[in-house]
Order: sequence, then C-alpha cells, then structure tokens
Amino acid sequence: MPKPKIPQSRLERLCRDHGMRMTGQRRIIARVLSEADDHPDVEEVHARASAVDKHLSLSTVYRTVRLFEEAGLLERHEFGDGRARYEQVASEHHDHLIDMRSGRVIEFRNEQVEQLQEAIARQLGYKLIDHRLELYGVPLKGDEKG
Ligand SMILES: [Zn+2]
Repeated sequence: MPKPKIPQSRLERLCRDHGMRMTGQRRIIARVLSEADDHPDVEEVHARASAVDKHLSLSTVYRTVRLFEEAGLLERHEFGDGRARYEQVASEHHDHLIDMRSGRVIEFRNEQVEQLQEAIARQLGYKLIDHRLELYGVPLKGDEKG
C-alpha cells in the first residue's frame, strides 16, 4: 500500500530551510509541534506523535525537540511547574498568562507593555532585543470582575 502523502507543516518547512534532513519521524514530530497551540511538554508531544507512528520512542522525541530548539525553531518555556514546554517560534511575539488552577496557558500581546519594556531598557542604556513575560493568576470571582 502506498504511504499517504502528509502535507508539509510550517515547522517542517523551516527545518528544511535550515538544511535539516527530515526523516518520517522528524516530520511527524514537526507536524505535532506545528499544530499544537497549548505549549506541550515532551511527553505530550510523544503521546500525540506516537498516535501517528507507534514506533516513535520518547528518546527520539527528546532528541528531535532538542535539535529543533538548537536550530532556533522552538521556544522552550517553564511555567512554574518544572516541566519544559515547547512552542514553535511565533511569527509575532506574544506573552503568556498561566492559570494556576487549571494550568491553562493564555497568550496575549499588549502594546503598552511592549513599549514600557523598551523604555525601561533604553533608560538603562540598552536596546531591547527580546523579553519574556509570564503572568501567574487564578480566575476572578464574578464580583471581582470589571
Ligand atoms: Zn505561546
């Protein structure tokens, strides 16, 4: 039976642009990471990837994720629970709010925050290249909103 043709994911394209050799397993892992919008850790990436190819080992996923990260194609986060989580480098910068009850990660971008950080760096004599901002919170109760 001919193998079904899997379309190339965004991350796979970036890997190829970096001259990376893309095996079938690397393609699957790239696809899982490309489609994820929830900042999965390696175990979660492995769970999703091995649903496609049950021969994919956790150590292969670890190695491949590290390879992608070293190529600058993945961003690693640690949202206060000691687990390394990954997302593909976004075309536009965003920051994160972590719901400490559910563990849900909410992405946001705020121009005032962006400008304020640039201003702080400038006051300290620096040109801002990058930053990371993580907000940790619990959901407001009904009467606390507004
Ligand atoms: Zn994110």
